[in-house]
Amino acid sequence: MPHSFHELYSLMPKLDCGLCNNPSCSTMTRKIAAGDNEPKECLPLSALPRFKENLQKIRQLVHEGIEIGAKGTVVNEETGVTYIHPCITEADKIAAEARLASGVGGSPDLKYGFYDPLQLCATLNLAEFFQDVKCSPSLGIGRVHLGDKTVLIYKDGRINVRQAKDKEDAIHTIRQASRSLWSAIICTCGNTSIDCASGGCEECSDEICPVIGGGPPDPTVANWSPARQTGASTIFERVKTLETRKHFENGMKQLDEAFNLFKQASLQFLNEHSADGSTLILIEEKIVQVNKLAIRFIVETSNVYDAALGLILSGVATDLSRIADGLKSLTSSKSDFSSPAFTRLLSEAINIAAEAYNSFRTVNFEETRQIAFRFEGFSKKWMETFREMPQKNVLIAIEKIAVNGFYMSRLLTKPLPI
Ligand code: SF4
Repeated sequence: MPHSFHELYSLMPKLDCGLCNNPSCSTMTRKIAAGDNEPKECLPLSALPRFKENLQKIRQLVHEGIEIGAKGTVVNEETGVTYIHPCITEADKIAAEARLASGVGGSPDLKYGFYDPLQLCATLNLAEFFQDVKCSPSLGIGRVHLGDKTVLIYKDGRINVRQAKDKEDAIHTIRQASRSLWSAIICTCGNTSIDCASGGCEECSDEICPVIGGGPPDPTVANWSPARQTGASTIFERVKTLETRKHFENGMKQLDEAFNLFKQASLQFLNEHSADGSTLILIEEKIVQVNKLAIRFIVETSNVYDAALGLILSGVATDLSRIADGLKSLTSSKSDFSSPAFTRLLSEAINIAAEAYNSFRTVNFEETRQIAFRFEGFSKKWMETFREMPQKNVLIAIEKIAVNGFYMSRLLTKPLPI
């Protein structure tokens, strides 16, 4: 009996530190399961004594086999809304099923599965229009209510609607559910589209992300044609023309406030070796608001390529959330921070994060290029320090701040569809 994604993920460090060249542990889990990466490529797993036993168990699981991806083969003709029929329980109501597929040109690519189960559940809980959300990351199934209707979402990309009024109502509901879950779609690179949109994916920092570029899956469209490209630097101009701009602009306002709070907390940490817990909580709360607004923007914006800008909004929120998480780990650590090596590295990590956010907001390409050089220099110094100093947890938290700043700096040049 093969092991599941969830069994493997539960043994991972869950630090989302990016040291394996993947922006999240869930992507690395998929890649280990698919044989694309080896467990030892996760530096925390191989270097931190507290994960020694986990590493052994992971190797055992890999040896015994892990089921990853969706079962069976989906052919293009099966995608879209595939099945509409009267409800079994209420004859005057409609039930419908849709099969979504991602990949270049909308072709099905289920090597890693369709939805990331963790992001699936997190997103269902954030989408404010669903009621009675029940979601199991271990099973990869979500169930929600939308008025009288029940919607079931499966990690392989199937969406079922029950008790819809009529066919139009069923299709509208499927589209609303699928749109709200764009961030959870697994791209052909193994990242969730939220991580691709955060700048964390190396492959789609130069080329258009296949999910976004082909047009994120729409249940009523079986074939997609590739979009023309533009840089993410046009994002603020494009948003101004949309009726749904208020969601995006409110999201950016919350992000700005969260970022200013991060600057305040990091300055406090540099001076006092501790940051105010309530400030860190406030940052988290603001990031939750940003993600809610991004989902609303994606669902309510009619054109799919414009709606995809909402993923970038969530992507920046993801970067900032991980940056703040790095600072939170430092604050809860009992380590001695008096070493000048720590202070130098931490100051540089904070500067990278701060300048990355500023460069994104002010559309400053030159600053973006400088950040790439600075991050390269930072990484070299960081690796030397990591080899020499025993406080590995602290160093990983510092690195998490810098790497997510670096991801953010790649957003300006990221190709987006028009
Ligand atoms: S290196 Fe970091 S992001 Fe990658 S799997 Fe390990 S802990 Fe997760």
